[in-house]
Amino acid sequence: MERKSGWEIWNENKIKDSFEYCEKYKEFLSKNKTVRKFVNSCVEIAENIGFKNINEFKKLKKGDKFYKVNKGKEVIFGVLGNKKLIEGCRFIVAHVDCPRIDLKTTPLYEDENIALFKTYYYGGIKKYQWLTIPLALHGVVFMKDGSFKEIEIGEKEDDPVFTITDLLPHLAKEQIKRTIEDGFPGENLNVFVGTIPDKSKDKEKIKSNILKILKEFYGIEEEDFISSELELVPAGKSKDSGIDKSLILSYGHDDRVCSYTSFTAFIDSLNSENNNFCILVDQEEIGSRGSTSAGSSFFEYFIEEVLEKSDYSVSDIKKTFQNSKAISGDVNTLLDPNFKEAYDPRNSAKIGCGVVLTKITGGRGKGGSTEPTGEYVAYMRKIFDKNNVLWQPGEIGKLELGGGGTVATYFARYNIDTIDCGTGVLSMHAPFELVSKADVYSTYEAYKAFYREE
Ligand code: MN
Ligand code: MN
Repeated sequence: MERKSGWEIWNENKIKDSFEYCEKYKEFLSKNKTVRKFVNSCVEIAENIGFKNINEFKKLKKGDKFYKVNKGKEVIFGVLGNKKLIEGCRFIVAHVDCPRIDLKTTPLYEDENIALFKTYYYGGIKKYQWLTIPLALHGVVFMKDGSFKEIEIGEKEDDPVFTITDLLPHLAKEQIKRTIEDGFPGENLNVFVGTIPDKSKDKEKIKSNILKILKEFYGIEEEDFISSELELVPAGKSKDSGIDKSLILSYGHDDRVCSYTSFTAFIDSLNSENNNFCILVDQEEIGSRGSTSAGSSFFEYFIEEVLEKSDYSVSDIKKTFQNSKAISGDVNTLLDPNFKEAYDPRNSAKIGCGVVLTKITGGRGKGGSTEPTGEYVAYMRKIFDKNNVLWQPGEIGKLELGGGGTVATYFARYNIDTIDCGTGVLSMHAPFELVSKADVYSTYEAYKAFYREE
């Protein structure tokens, strides 16, 4: 079953469309490097085309466009079509959180005339990849009086950036013998913050000077860090990659590529007959356990509210879910020529060959997988082929090497037909991940087909 790449089978117009779409994707990624920013920007776009907070609706009817934000970090957009809600809805869910380096609760300290931040890495990272690269500080500090200060340092041309140091090769004789796992302890991921002392102080002069600057420019005291959400992410913009510019190198493709493609497919399918929903969740990279994650009841309560405002009863949710269809939009692996030994080449997705439809996630004996029915897989094949979507089947990698899960389980458990389908990514969870523009565009087209198909 040889699959051809989009570059091989698409005509010039389609290739141009895919490049143009990806310009907007890159811009959106570069602008929205935190969960809150991503959610806010999506809401802003939606409001500009007539979406309103669901609280503003007493009743919902066909054509109504509504959304609800959960604590600034999760959002569900909905639009009602001609179909009855109990005949089912279409859900695409993607996560907007990405691996990153968070500041610890009490981060600032001084050592060897250097002020540093203690950090806590968020998500499954290979720690060594995050050393010696330019990092930007993003986030919000919440004050006791209810006010908050937004911080972004490291993205503007003349902004300073941050970095975590690594040991020089000349002295790394012992370090290089260690495993990657214990060669880079998490407690060593301390970020340099400054080196100029406050001469008026007797001790911790450097730390004092940093606190003085933070107070002066941001109005922040040391204790305010406790209620902050500050994170370090790779500095700089998303970039084209390759001499032919067919790829995008960027922070955050996992899973903002599926978030962006599902959101744009959703707003480009507003006249569909279906009841469509786009769900952007937080906290996937740390196990979906929090109130803004796919594991939260927010989704269920939201659908209950939609049912009630559409003159159904809350108990109709069972029928609604049973007749619904969902895509868990998350990235998948691609066969990497540099690490072929990790993949089964016959069952791995290939770069540029389209959106990846994944029947089996999990690891080892399908452990943790939410395997959809064969009927549902056939349904997806049908709508993709009917709409000329470039797609390919794919699995995570060799059976016993590891594996991974997605938020599919939180939708499948409601008895909603749920399948994993998303963009293939290389160097997943690295500071800079790589995707093909053909795959980004075909993900958008796949999601559009799903929202529009009757
Ligand atoms: Mn991930
Ligand atoms: Mn993911």
